[in-house]
Amino acid sequence: MTNSYNKIITKARELLVSQDDSAFKTFKLDLTKLNYSGKNVLFDTFQNYAKITGTKAITKKQNPDGCTIVVRELNHDTNYVILTHEILPMARIHRSNARNVSQKIDIAKRRLKWTLAHEIGHMCLGHTKDNPAEEREANAFASELLMPELVLLELNRQLPQKLTIYELVRIFGVSQSAAENRLTQLQRKTEFSPALKEPLMAKYNKLVLEYVDKAKQERVPQRWLYQPRRD
Ligand SMILES: [Zn+2]
Repeated sequence: MTNSYNKIITKARELLVSQDDSAFKTFKLDLTKLNYSGKNVLFDTFQNYAKITGTKAITKKQNPDGCTIVVRELNHDTNYVILTHEILPMARIHRSNARNVSQKIDIAKRRLKWTLAHEIGHMCLGHTKDNPAEEREANAFASELLMPELVLLELNRQLPQKLTIYELVRIFGVSQSAAENRLTQLQRKTEFSPALKEPLMAKYNKLVLEYVDKAKQERVPQRWLYQPRRD
């Protein structure tokens, strides 16, 4: 079954709206700590999972991003195990110089965030087929989960200058390409479904106001100076 774009966005919004207010301390939500409405979700690395189950770890070559394992138990409980790679193998950290390491970790963290959001998308949308259509849907879900459209529109409306790619990277902790895609999508968008607007903005209003306030006070807008490292 293919979900329509609106249905996907609604699912992502519903997930955000169902979170406790305390989840919204910054725009960068900790996806591993969200409440998945009764679903039992475990986050781990391929490496650790292999260790626990006594199997061979999936390499980055076999699967560069992540995967979700659905474990159905005898009592009909469903558990989800979302696996990703370790941020950086220690061997590579030792070989690089210090500046390089922090840069690489930064980029890897942003990528990891996207992978988690994408896998959560597969889970929330009930995907089972692992086909290109489901991949696109999981990406649309991830985009909305990490950078909610209404929040971006609201920031754009209130800020003295429109949001930039670099700002999205900094505010939401996403990769440069994810931010770039999101802004391009937004420019094409002329209207949006107002469903769930109020409950969603109730979660984000404080963060939006704080950010806009700070941006307006800056004499040299820091938000224009920041250049993220290339992914
Ligand atoms: Zn996928």
